[in-house]
Amino acid sequence: DGLVKHFPITKGLLRRRTGAVQAVDGLTFDVRPGETLGVVGESGCGKSTMGRLITRLLEPTAGRIEFEGRDITHLGVAAMRPMRRDVQMIFQDPYSSLNPRHTVGTIVGAPFRLQGITPEGGVKKEVQRLLGLVGLNPEHYNRYPHEFSGGQRQRIGIARALALKPKLVVADEPVSALDVSIQAQVVNLLDDLQEELGLTYVIIAHDLSVIRHVSDRIAVMYLGKIVELADRTPLYTAPLHPYTRALLSAVPVPDPARRTRRTREPAGGGGRILLRGDVPSPISPPSGCRFHTRCWKATEICAREEPPLLTLRPGHAAACHHPEDGGDSGARGAVT
Ligand code: SF4
Ligand code: MG
Repeated sequence: DGLVKHFPITKGLLRRRTGAVQAVDGLTFDVRPGETLGVVGESGCGKSTMGRLITRLLEPTAGRIEFEGRDITHLGVAAMRPMRRDVQMIFQDPYSSLNPRHTVGTIVGAPFRLQGITPEGGVKKEVQRLLGLVGLNPEHYNRYPHEFSGGQRQRIGIARALALKPKLVVADEPVSALDVSIQAQVVNLLDDLQEELGLTYVIIAHDLSVIRHVSDRIAVMYLGKIVELADRTPLYTAPLHPYTRALLSAVPVPDPARRTRRTREPAGGGGRILLRGDVPSPISPPSGCRFHTRCWKATEICAREEPPLLTLRPGHAAACHHPEDGGDSGARGAVT
């Protein structure tokens, strides 16, 4: 609720504060039990920071985080320990997130040691069960990360994240470091595990096709804000925010004839949209709507007033003064 994370920028030996990177700037959203919330946006939009905030790997500058009705925003290390079991993270890079000097058994068994838990039947047996669960050979318990392929290493990371039977798993770009041919296997594994174990996921990605495949609902982020939040189908078929439309239209069109036609159509006409300029710096984001410097629909109010995230259709929220079809005014209301 209202999550903010600013990273201060300091200068000189006295660490005089000269500004801040406004990585995340007022996020309010919920994650429902058993669902997959996809979080998408260009690099630097704050999606990784958001993942690290909700798993309490980072302290928020402001705002509140609740887990199962309990305020966990400022829990100390000891009070956090049981929560650590329930909330786990899968990282982007299976190469750097596994210690190369440790065997797979040590890596996947680490959460038990850290939590001081001895699983029924012992750590080794449980690790072997976990390796089987993620599609690895349980007999490879004594091998080292370099003996595995990229996809297998991500499976090791997933086994480690599942060791303590978490409820919520936050995966930050879980497949983007992998070969395209391997991505689908890992995505399908995450899918199967969710069904088998009743997991809730927050999956962060810049790739819209991965997000489309895995998500029940999707949050689109731009420069530290959620600009649109909706179920998967309405988000893809009838987006309300110009930025979402631009992101979607940037997905490559497989049919070359169609691609040519789409490219020629002017922005705003339902065709391909080319975003002007780069993403502005999160150190001094634009006034009003942060997207106004790149938006073809921007008017004077956009630079002046920040549009709040409002429910414009049932279950479909967007933060824009001029949403795509005006939304359904009957459903308009604040997001709670
Ligand atoms: Fe574009 Fe204005 Fe909507 Fe921002 S508020 S997305 S600038 S139309
Ligand atoms: Mg990231």
